[in-house]
This record gives sequence, C-alpha cells and structure tokens, in this order.
Amino acid sequence: MTMEQVSTVATGNPQENLALSLRGVAKRYFEGGQGLEILSGAELDVYNGELVALVAPSGAGKSTLLHMAGLLDSPDEGEVYIGGQACSGLGDNERTRIRRMDIGFVYQFHQLLPEFSALENVALPQMIAGLKRAVAEERAKQLLEYMRLGARLSHRPAQLSGGEQQRVAIARAVANGPRVLLADEPTGNLDPTTSSYVFDALKALVRASGVCALLATHNMELAKRMDRRITLRQGKIVELK
Ligand code: ADP
Repeated sequence: MTMEQVSTVATGNPQENLALSLRGVAKRYFEGGQGLEILSGAELDVYNGELVALVAPSGAGKSTLLHMAGLLDSPDEGEVYIGGQACSGLGDNERTRIRRMDIGFVYQFHQLLPEFSALENVALPQMIAGLKRAVAEERAKQLLEYMRLGARLSHRPAQLSGGEQQRVAIARAVANGPRVLLADEPTGNLDPTTSSYVFDALKALVRASGVCALLATHNMELAKRMDRRITLRQGKIVELK
C-alpha cells in the first residue's frame, strides 16, 4: 500500500496540521457526596503524524482524558478541538459523525466482532459510514495487507493470535481515515515481543497515514519509542522529558 492510499492529511500549515487540541479541560466526578477533580485545566496539542505516549499511574485519569479526546464524554469546562473544530457545543448527531469519521479507537482487548472475518471487521465501519461493500472491502484488504495480515483476511478473531487480533483492531480503527487515533493500553495484553511488533506496525501506520495517535501505556520501552511522553499531575497534562 502506498502512502497516498493510507493517507488522510498533511499540509504545510501548522494550524491545519493540528489534529487534536484540549484547552482548559476540567472533569469532575461526584461519588458518595464527594467531588473529585480528575482533569483541571488540561492543555494539549497533538499534530498530524505525531505519536504521543500517555504514561500515568492507574487512577490518574488516563481513560477520562481519552474519553474527552474521543468525544465519548464531555468536559465540565474547557474545549476539545478535533481538526480545528470545537466540539463542546455540537449536538449528538454531529458528535457521532466526528467520532465515526475523525476518531479511531483501539482498546486493550480488541473488541472485534467474533462472527465476522478480519476483512469484514475492517470493512463494516466504512459501510456504516456509507461506502459500498466492494469499496470498503478493497480498502480493508489494503489496510490488512499493510498490517501484514494479507494471509488472514477470512479468519475470524478466534482464529487469530492476540497480536494479529490487535493488528486487525488497529486497521479497523483507521478504516475511515480518522484525524485522531486513541488507544488505551493497546498492547497491554500481549507478551513483550508481540507487543513490540504490534507497536511497530502501529507506528508505521501513523507515519504513513498522517493520523495523530495518543496512546495510554504502562510500557516505558514503548513510550520511549514515541515522539513525546505526557503524564497527568493534579489534573494537568505535563510533558515528560
Ligand atoms: P486511569 O485510566 O488513569 O486508571 P481513570 O480515568 O479511569 O484513570 O479514573 C480516574 C479517577 O476517576 C479514578 O479515581 C476513578 O475512580 C474516577 N472515576 C472514573 N470514572 C468515574 C465515574 N464514572 N464516576 C466516578 N468516578 C470515576
């Protein structure tokens, strides 16, 4: 697959190259009468083609941050911009459209549909977005070949290894050519060698497509291989040197 075929974006203009921005994002949860401020004035810019590690202890707010960035939840204060578009004032339909077209998700457990093949799992989100089956399956095939799964197109998830399942999940996440790829411990369930292989595939895809990726991980080896590392301290996003 060529770069053009996987590509979504990439221009010379820094503002246009800004894929994901958080400005003054605050999020509080109320439990048992107590308020917990998990995010408080969180600021972040991630550019097209950039791979950012989110490294923080359990309970620090990584999932909360990914949910805000992925429009799965709304901040109490502040704004999330996807490709320059402010998202807080949008209605449910428009948020769903942005989530479907501009954001891809990869979870620790692949969450592929068990009764469908690898090819169908990657084609389905494109068909839901309105593409004809033949077109969606052709792109799915190209993406799976790019992930070195060309010989596994008709395998169902249960017939694939853990690393292969995650590579299908990554192909599925970028099937609609999103601006932003969000991943919560995408290799947390894999042995170190497989984890490294899956990460390399993901990184190559980020570089080739121009999607930006924000990956929560506990794996410092992988974090070191990303462009930047960020953490959460008292609800704020801090760059790790
Ligand atoms: P991480 O992903 O870094 O482990 P989370 O974002 O899942 O952290 O959670 C951060 C904190 O917010 C935790 O203390 C958690 O208990 C709390 N929390 C998360 N979701 C909710 C919720 N829906 N209601 C109340 N508290 C929550």
